[in-house]
Amino acid sequence: MIDFEIPEEDGALLDAIDRMMAREFPPQAYREAEARHETPWHLLPVMGEMGLLALPFPQEYGGLGKDWRSAALVQERLAQHAGIAATLFNSAVTFGGMSLISYGSEAQKRKLLPPMMQGKIWFSLGLTESGAGSDAGGLITSARRIDGGWRINGRKTWISHAGTAQYLLVACRTEAGSKGSRGVSMLLVPRETPGISMTVIPKVGQNCMPSWDIGLQDVEVGDDALMGEAGQGFKHLMSTLHYSRAGQAANSVGQAQRAVNLAVQHARERHQFGQAIGSFQVIQHRLADMQMRVNQARLLLYQLAWLIATGRPCRLEAAQTKLVASETFQYVTRHGMQILASAGYAMESEMQRMWRDAGLFTFGEGSSEMQRNIIAKEMGL
Ligand SMILES: Cc1cc2nc3c(=O)[nH]c(=O)nc-3n(C[C@H](O)[C@H](O)[C@H](O)COP(=O)(O)OP(=O)(O)OC[C@H]3O[C@@H](n4cnc5c(N)ncnc54)[C@H](O)[C@@H]3O)c2cc1C
Repeated sequence: MIDFEIPEEDGALLDAIDRMMAREFPPQAYREAEARHETPWHLLPVMGEMGLLALPFPQEYGGLGKDWRSAALVQERLAQHAGIAATLFNSAVTFGGMSLISYGSEAQKRKLLPPMMQGKIWFSLGLTESGAGSDAGGLITSARRIDGGWRINGRKTWISHAGTAQYLLVACRTEAGSKGSRGVSMLLVPRETPGISMTVIPKVGQNCMPSWDIGLQDVEVGDDALMGEAGQGFKHLMSTLHYSRAGQAANSVGQAQRAVNLAVQHARERHQFGQAIGSFQVIQHRLADMQMRVNQARLLLYQLAWLIATGRPCRLEAAQTKLVASETFQYVTRHGMQILASAGYAMESEMQRMWRDAGLFTFGEGSSEMQRNIIAKEMGL
């Protein structure tokens, strides 16, 4: 059976996260950063100092040797304070660290894991192109062999944090004429490499996480830029997908819980017709449904974290957890907006920010439809 007892050590870490977030990035700071479209990068070195970014990595690389259960709890708690904090954790630990651990070379691990764990470097994953979204195998960005390395040409779009990440992990077609998932390789490109151009994409939400359109024109990198085996890029990407789906689910559960807490608080404090709106049964039932859905998503998340930690297969569970958690996040923020009404519609309200931010979660990292396709396939259909 899965044990739901949170180990004492992890409990202490969660308390420390509460104190750290209240000090480093309270709700008012989040409001201001969002309005200015700024990313609170200062949080990463602080997380590094607390050991959060070292949690799931082997001790031989300076990690703490904990498993994905601790990482999931930490991401959920960070998100309960600020969704962007869990997103930053993901940029360093999942896109960077877990990719390095899963298919990086020994030299890449030794060079990049220590600064990543200190919060000094983070990574962007460059997979999506204008013609390759859900069908990532439609990518056409190419990397051709040159003497001592690779020359990259193409475009990527919607790449989070690309303008500030020290490294872009770019999926490139390295076998001319190959199609779909074949002939793709992962290249680790330093962002300052000549030939890279970037423009920001204005968007509805997630304003602390800028999205970038990237041009890659005759970008040359050395042999050491190759992560994993040439031509096996999709296999490598698949090997880390459950980490990023678990991360996105943890982010969804944490923010969804905050939305429920805010809605309950409002229902207690707001009076109409001489009574708290929380005394109306219709509001009570709405809140009960919201909390119930968050609890369901959390249980799936803890089950997935346990499967990952114990090395069990989890393709179906990763898809269903991501799907349920992201749809729950949207559900509770939509109903939260109804409960808060005008108070939620003001730009200073946290609810409206989460409601806008939740829009991404049901298609980023694979849409709900694609998750249902995976689940159906795993069911033998
Ligand atoms: C804010 C933001 C941040 C992002 N960050 C990154 C990033 O860091 N790195 C990166 O590489 N990408 C990133 N993306 C891109 C993201 O991963 C894609 O948006 C996502 O994969 C969906 O692709 P698409 O938007 O092209 O939609 P499409 O693939 O065009 O899908 C449109 C609709 O068709 C449905 N659909 C498509 N195919 C099927 C099918 N076979 N069966 C059923 N339904 C289907 C989809 O579910 C969706 O509803 C980001 C996007 C956003 C908006």
